[in-house]
Amino acid sequence: MTLRLYWQDAYQRTFEARVLQRLTHKGYPAVVLDQTAFYPTAGGQPHDTGKLNGVEVIEVLEHGDDIVHVTSAPIEDEVVHGALNWARRFDHMQQHSGQHVLSQAFVRVAGLDTVAVHIGKEVCTIDLPTAQLAPETVARAEAEANAVVWEDRPIRAFIVDEAEIARFPLRRPPKVRGAVRIVEVQEYDWSACGGTHVRSTAQIGAIKIVRAEKRGKETRVTFICGQRAFADYVQLHHNVAQIMERLSAPRYQVAEAVQRALGSAQRMRKALQEARVRLAAYEAEALLAQAVPFNGGRCVVHVFEDRDPEEVRLIARAVCAQQPTVALLGVAGEQGQLIFARAEALPHVDAAALLRQALAALFPQGGVKGGGSAVFAQSSGFAVDRDRLRAVLNALAARLSMPL
Ligand SMILES: [Zn+2]
Repeated sequence: MTLRLYWQDAYQRTFEARVLQRLTHKGYPAVVLDQTAFYPTAGGQPHDTGKLNGVEVIEVLEHGDDIVHVTSAPIEDEVVHGALNWARRFDHMQQHSGQHVLSQAFVRVAGLDTVAVHIGKEVCTIDLPTAQLAPETVARAEAEANAVVWEDRPIRAFIVDEAEIARFPLRRPPKVRGAVRIVEVQEYDWSACGGTHVRSTAQIGAIKIVRAEKRGKETRVTFICGQRAFADYVQLHHNVAQIMERLSAPRYQVAEAVQRALGSAQRMRKALQEARVRLAAYEAEALLAQAVPFNGGRCVVHVFEDRDPEEVRLIARAVCAQQPTVALLGVAGEQGQLIFARAEALPHVDAAALLRQALAALFPQGGVKGGGSAVFAQSSGFAVDRDRLRAVLNALAARLSMPL
């Protein structure tokens, strides 16, 4: 049996102990000690880490009345000096005490009992038995919980005989029979709990709810306390400060400023697209003036340099909208591309087939993909030199002029 020092004093960071038993857990060495300050995974609170005689404690488990310390290397000594990773433990204490206060706040504000608790690595959650948790209820519970934090109420734990339990208004009935350990937030909350807690609510620092999401018939409330809440505030403040500066927005009007910026960007995209369509029509006219006739149609061949393919697509469509025309357009440069189109009135010309022929001429080894329909086809991107691309497109146009 291991004496649990963390129940006597949650602030004890170091201790001496005797090794009672050596075993292995999932291939790692482990020891049972006569006493320990290491908290095991239990009651929703994660285990502590730290060192025993300089050897890393990687996991701590409850096994009946024993506490098993899993270590990164075997411990040969009979007596060990234990030292907790205090930052991790204190963080768990802040989260766990904050959870008790927040759970009680939901009871008082909305009559909602906590049905499940999880203290995670980054965030903590409590599950509440309702599918409809109004944002105002969340805000009221959060405000109430933080008021309790600022009241600096003492938190203490004590053991109570089974017969005495009824004297305490426990938030949840104990899961075990017999004597029960009660954690009390003075004149506020009483819970049957084996966890480690801060000594007064002020040490919780702050309680921030970050999300409330419906999960079937329940709502999962995600929150962070103490150092985690502060670190989150620092990060968010940094982000918001950057947005404020870039949008020249006042502190509490960032959301409206972002909305305005998004609206303006959307209007500009629309105006730009309209301008591109108009420009494409003009460019199509110029290209059509140089079109080469063939079998009842006309063929436009042109190579653009480093041009946005979206604009070339618009030009191809504009060219083929106006006449019984075939457009064999290419973009030369690092991000080259082929964009072929043909007018509806030329059913015997297949744009996709022409594209395949052009790609075969440009890349006999293959490697560049392309496809589309008989009316419109395009390739993926590739690097190509202007003269070479023009030669291939001209050869293709010449073949179009041959008798069928
Ligand atoms: Zn608890």
